Amino acid sequence: MSNNTNKKVAINGAGPVGALLAVMLAKKGYQIDLFESRPDSRKTTIYQGKSINLALSDRGWKALSAVGLDEEIRKQAIPMYCRVMHDINGNITKQPYGKEDQAIWSVSRAGINEQLINLAEKEPTVNVHFGHRLTQLNFSDNTAVYMDENHHQKIYESDLVFGADGAFSKVRRLMQELPKSRISYSLDYMQKSYMELTIAANEDGSHKLEKNALHIWPRKDFMLIALPNNDGSFTCTLFMDHEGELSFSSLAKHENKQQKVSEFFQQYFAPAMDYLENPVEDFLSKTPSPLCLVHIYPWLVNDSIALIGDAAHAMVPFYGQGMNCGFEDCRVLAELVEQHDHQWSDILNAYQQERKENGDAITELAKRNFIEMSDLAGDERFLLRKKIEAKFHQMHPELWIPLYSMVTFSPDIPYKTALHVGDIQRTIMDEIMLIPKIEQEWQQAHIYEKLLVLAQEKLVNNHSELRL
Ligand SMILES: Cc1cc2nc3c(=O)[nH]c(=O)nc-3n(C[C@H](O)[C@H](O)[C@H](O)COP(=O)(O)OP(=O)(O)OC[C@H]3O[C@@H](n4cnc5c(N)ncnc54)[C@H](O)[C@@H]3O)c2cc1C
Repeated sequence: MSNNTNKKVAINGAGPVGALLAVMLAKKGYQIDLFESRPDSRKTTIYQGKSINLALSDRGWKALSAVGLDEEIRKQAIPMYCRVMHDINGNITKQPYGKEDQAIWSVSRAGINEQLINLAEKEPTVNVHFGHRLTQLNFSDNTAVYMDENHHQKIYESDLVFGADGAFSKVRRLMQELPKSRISYSLDYMQKSYMELTIAANEDGSHKLEKNALHIWPRKDFMLIALPNNDGSFTCTLFMDHEGELSFSSLAKHENKQQKVSEFFQQYFAPAMDYLENPVEDFLSKTPSPLCLVHIYPWLVNDSIALIGDAAHAMVPFYGQGMNCGFEDCRVLAELVEQHDHQWSDILNAYQQERKENGDAITELAKRNFIEMSDLAGDERFLLRKKIEAKFHQMHPELWIPLYSMVTFSPDIPYKTALHVGDIQRTIMDEIMLIPKIEQEWQQAHIYEKLLVLAQEKLVNNHSELRL
């Protein structure tokens, strides 16, 4: 094995992905400088960002367990075994996410980030530099300039540089400014923005809604979701159009906004009003946050500077995969370090080749999933489709894994395969749903015989590479 103990790696951004990458590369013997523009959130009471919580699922767990961090993180995580859908009249339906014991896990963004930074600091070769904002990068010698909290410039040199600095990455912007860089890039703001609201705990600290579930109030063009926290509260997120007839903007700018916003919540979220804590005041005092998609290629410069996590592939949150995908980037990269015996030109090129297509695939799937969450999740025919798929999966698990399960619970299936197989499954299910009296006969054997013929023909015979 090559001697790598003297190699210095600069990781810009100590978000969840940068912190995990620091642990992984330290365990491979590298000297790590982890730079974060914000102050250390563990030592300051100043509000450091959003209080969102995130759904951690099997791809994230697989990456964490690769370096033995999963058990520590699991102590603070809450399993969510199902979606609980709240319709406009207050009726509730439950949809399991997968098999009985399969769950996605609610973790606080700040909490998991601090846990990962604690774990990074335990590595003897990791130095964390808070309050260090990357301002310049010399691509010819990997020298980076940082502005510290006292507005002093600091210069660090390293052998490898990672941009783990999120959706608005400075490393990425500096890459784009390189003369003759030939970088293809797009950042698309989505029509939807989001705002956090809260459901407080009961006085005894218990949860006001079922704890082990992700709650959704789907209203077609907008939706409210709630994920549980350990203190008994729920963090809620309202997704709706930024501009337009019924939007964050139209409500907040209305001349009678107090009344308008109150009417909006009463009209669409009446059953949730018993739980939400000051939603009208929150709505009027907060600024909605944008959602954006980032595509960029290449992810590398000079085979020694690379993007990772949201810096490479920011996506909308409707599949709950942004952080999971970033963790998977880290795991794959760490595996490639061994496979290519610490030869970084080979490692980074293989990393880019493997991850770019997968990043694009999950970005696309996430964009599509808003409709499933906000509209279809309450639709009878859509639910029937899901039931038929679930039953067929039980009968032929080697042939059919529902798309949600491929993405969420099958870390060995690449996102790009999930996207491809999911598209074929959709055409098959479109045909099945056209069978007369499907609503009454969906449990009968002839439905599954036809499904088997179609699956064998379209998934197996024509696409041997798509065999699951
Ligand atoms: C509403 C919402 C819900 C989401 N839900 C989920 C979910 O359920 N599941 C999921 O997997 N993902 C979810 N995501 C996505 C997830 O939050 C991101 O994918 C994840 O945070 C990306 O991690 P990161 O470390 O790449 O970037 P970030 O979390 O953005 O961290 C980047 C870090 O870089 C620092 N930084 C920025 N610029 C500089 C600079 N110039 N110098 C030094 N440091 C810098 C920042 O301060 C920050 O700490 C959600 C996102 C949103 C918005």
